[in-house]
Amino acid sequence: MSIIAYLNGKFIPAEEASISPLDRGMVFGDGVYEVIPVFNRKILYLEEHLDRLNQSLQGIRMTLPHTHAEWKSLLTTLVEENNLNHGGEHQWIYLQVTRGFQLVRDHQIPNNLTPTVFAISYPKILTSKEEQAQGIKVIATTDIRWKYCYIKTTARLAYTLMYQEAKDAGVDEAIIINNGYALEGTSSNFFMVRHGVISTPPKGPLLLSGITRDKILALAEKHKIPYRENKISERELLKADEIWITSSIRGIYPVVEFNGEPISNGKAGPFWSKMWDYYAEDITNLSLSVSN
Ligand code: PMP
Repeated sequence: MSIIAYLNGKFIPAEEASISPLDRGMVFGDGVYEVIPVFNRKILYLEEHLDRLNQSLQGIRMTLPHTHAEWKSLLTTLVEENNLNHGGEHQWIYLQVTRGFQLVRDHQIPNNLTPTVFAISYPKILTSKEEQAQGIKVIATTDIRWKYCYIKTTARLAYTLMYQEAKDAGVDEAIIINNGYALEGTSSNFFMVRHGVISTPPKGPLLLSGITRDKILALAEKHKIPYRENKISERELLKADEIWITSSIRGIYPVVEFNGEPISNGKAGPFWSKMWDYYAEDITNLSLSVSN
């Protein structure tokens, strides 16, 4: 399967995309990224992802290298090219902006570099509600990250190490615990349901503000399901009626086991089922609407 990528103004076969080893993204992990879902060839929640990209760039003292209209045009071309190429109606876009090439390694942030802009989109195989209802298992892991977790930086080593802990334990995701409080997954946010109320930790520097997370809170508001944004301890999480993890790639998954203990009798719960339907409906409606 060949895949088209975008690199600094050009659409090229992904195998031909190359950047210098002296790019600061390579040397310092000096860059940020986004992952954006595409459903029925429609880029979902693009404005929200671009706003978050902008926020991440500001966090590392960079500015958005393209206007929203330019991003929309280049990402739409990428999706269409790859649709022709591999026939993927559903895709996921990875886009990355790094600070660019710098000949002499220097810790100080220079202000005259040309950012490296890279994007690629892969076909996405949809999983059915029945498949997702099988749920996933998670463990708790100790937070080993820096303190600017609201920045979606490409420097993800702490996340990959914590995720590997989950894989080594034979489970699918790790929930990051900081001072006794659960913050997020290694590549997801989480929700808890207890006594009919949905809750998730409030936004702050120690978690990434997920686009899916925000969407779910908006859907809870719309459908009048009680919800709260509040700190959640690891101990409370063990008493949850339901736990879900959410991300642009995975959508909403029920957690059926936490630290080896069954959640919701080891089955997907009724709140998850309802929210899954609302989210699916939102995505379907968006993908059918004319403008993005
Ligand atoms: N937290 C972390 C650490 C993540 O990597 C992700 C995935 N990008 C999320 C949360 C979920 O964010 P989103 O819903 O925007 O995919």
